[in-house]
Amino acid sequence: MALRTENATENATENATENTNVATAMDTIVAIATPPGVGGVGIVRLSGSAALEIADGMFRPSGRRRLNKAESHRMLHGWVECDGSVVDEVLAVVMRAPRSYTREDVVEFQCHGGPLILRTLVNQACRGGARQAGPGEFTLRAFLNGRIDLTRAEAAGDIVRARSALGLQVSANQLRGRLHGEIAAIKEEIVQVAALVAAGIDFPEEDVVFAHREELADRLITARGRLTALLENARAGMIVREGLAVAIIGRPNVGKSSLLNALLREKRAIVTDIPGTTRDTVEEAMDIAGLMVRLVDTAGIRATEDQLEREGVTRAQAARAQADLVLLVLDGSEPLNMEDETLLKACDPDTTLAVINKIDRLEDKNRLGNNHIEPKWGGRLHPVPSVSISALTGEGLENLEAGIRGWALREDRPRLEDALITNQRQEQAARRALDAVQHAMEALEQNRGDELLAIDLDGVLSALGNIVGETTPDDLLYRIFAEFCIGK
Ligand code: GDP
Repeated sequence: MALRTENATENATENATENTNVATAMDTIVAIATPPGVGGVGIVRLSGSAALEIADGMFRPSGRRRLNKAESHRMLHGWVECDGSVVDEVLAVVMRAPRSYTREDVVEFQCHGGPLILRTLVNQACRGGARQAGPGEFTLRAFLNGRIDLTRAEAAGDIVRARSALGLQVSANQLRGRLHGEIAAIKEEIVQVAALVAAGIDFPEEDVVFAHREELADRLITARGRLTALLENARAGMIVREGLAVAIIGRPNVGKSSLLNALLREKRAIVTDIPGTTRDTVEEAMDIAGLMVRLVDTAGIRATEDQLEREGVTRAQAARAQADLVLLVLDGSEPLNMEDETLLKACDPDTTLAVINKIDRLEDKNRLGNNHIEPKWGGRLHPVPSVSISALTGEGLENLEAGIRGWALREDRPRLEDALITNQRQEQAARRALDAVQHAMEALEQNRGDELLAIDLDGVLSALGNIVGETTPDDLLYRIFAEFCIGK
């Protein structure tokens, strides 16, 4: 059977495919909602039409009111029983449909946070008729039941996974529906256009499209402008969510490892074991001014000197392919040599920041004030932007960090509190929508006829629907929610 309920299929097109893998009937699901391991409190969550009955069957209230008769959003104190004996003292929260995360009846048990007790509660709920939930199944139900759209569901997953302050901020904004609101506004413009075009098709003698040509063009221009702005900011959104991929390159002995250590020492590494998103390696990540920075190509950093000498250009190219930003380290206390020059030439000035290291070795006369320090070779790096530092003393590291952050966010442009595209799925759909808008504008200009215009407008609406999940194929939905943890 299909994944969606009536509610969510309102605007679905033939795009949506059948998939039986995810939710079959809306049965009652149960899962541990807190992380594995030992903790002060652990939460077991049930959702579905039988949630109250199942929870009631395992709960002995300390007061008089039974759980299945409890008021919504009230907490009850009591005991969980298995096979007639008490297993834990708990607090139970009842959230009646539709005022719950999933819009179904939900019960949450707060018990002691031990793995055995939590598993016992889940098993007991399963014996009562619940089914162990799959990854992300609670959020999937919130989506299927129309409480949140796909961008907000994705934001819920991103909030859980967020590893930097900015990532959290952006996800929280998307969870509040910023992107969804923007897509809805763009959609409204297109719906208005489509209505006029449909009127033209239905009453050809009245030439509706001709009469409203200017209004149609204006609305299409507005939609195009908003989509273009979204796509321009998409890079920043994705960098904030996934982290800025940075590669450190340079010839031997310029101070690459020292720089890496200085950065890692300053900035507590956030994670040391996140799987690389671009390749199958473990990457080091750190928090730089709220931005997650992932150091990629650490293999290059650890390469032997021979390799580096032989492979200078290849290295620069490989780093460029893997990283958003390449830090090219140069020794400011020595003249540039051939190898430095080769690397400089091989780098793309738009994606490279030259790091002039070892400024502690420079004499005072090189220090020109305003953080400007003249390396031994003068200012010949242009057009590659540069920052001067000493990995040894830490001087200039703050400027480097500001440079990295500024590069990533192009601080003049994206406003992180705005609607932001935060993943490739959304970006690709927005691009399809923009292409279809452009097509529609051409169709209008060249008088290709209402039918062709209507087809283009359908294409725009379908692509916009993809972003918010109205027309997203079920197998894609399945993959999105499979990335969530169990209990979310
Ligand atoms: P890599 O081969 O590029 O990774 O370079 P290293 O980080 O191993 O550094 C090479 C040498 O330069 C080591 O002896 C470091 O102590 C020294 N070094 C690195 N950074 C600085 C710096 O900022 N100032 C000074 N004076 N020495 C540095």
